[in-house]
Amino acid sequence: MVVRRRRRRVFHRRKICRFCADSSLKIDYKDPKTLRYFVTERGKIIPRRISGNCAKHQRQLSLAIKRARHIALMPYTTTTTF
Ligand SMILES: [Zn+2]
Repeated sequence: MVVRRRRRRVFHRRKICRFCADSSLKIDYKDPKTLRYFVTERGKIIPRRISGNCAKHQRQLSLAIKRARHIALMPYTTTTTF
């Protein structure tokens, strides 16, 4: 089976960084509502390629999520029964 893929089309829809686009949106580890947008339902951080965040904000975001996890505002994984 031949799968033909045009590599040029990879950047089909360019996503923009939400935090750059909306300056009112802040990355705060005390705000799990915002952070939750950027984690999967299993609690994993969504990679930059998918979230579309820029490197700067993705870095801040992952740090915030890690902090939020540390103070138990967010789960490490959601496999635990609540
Ligand atoms: Zn950004």
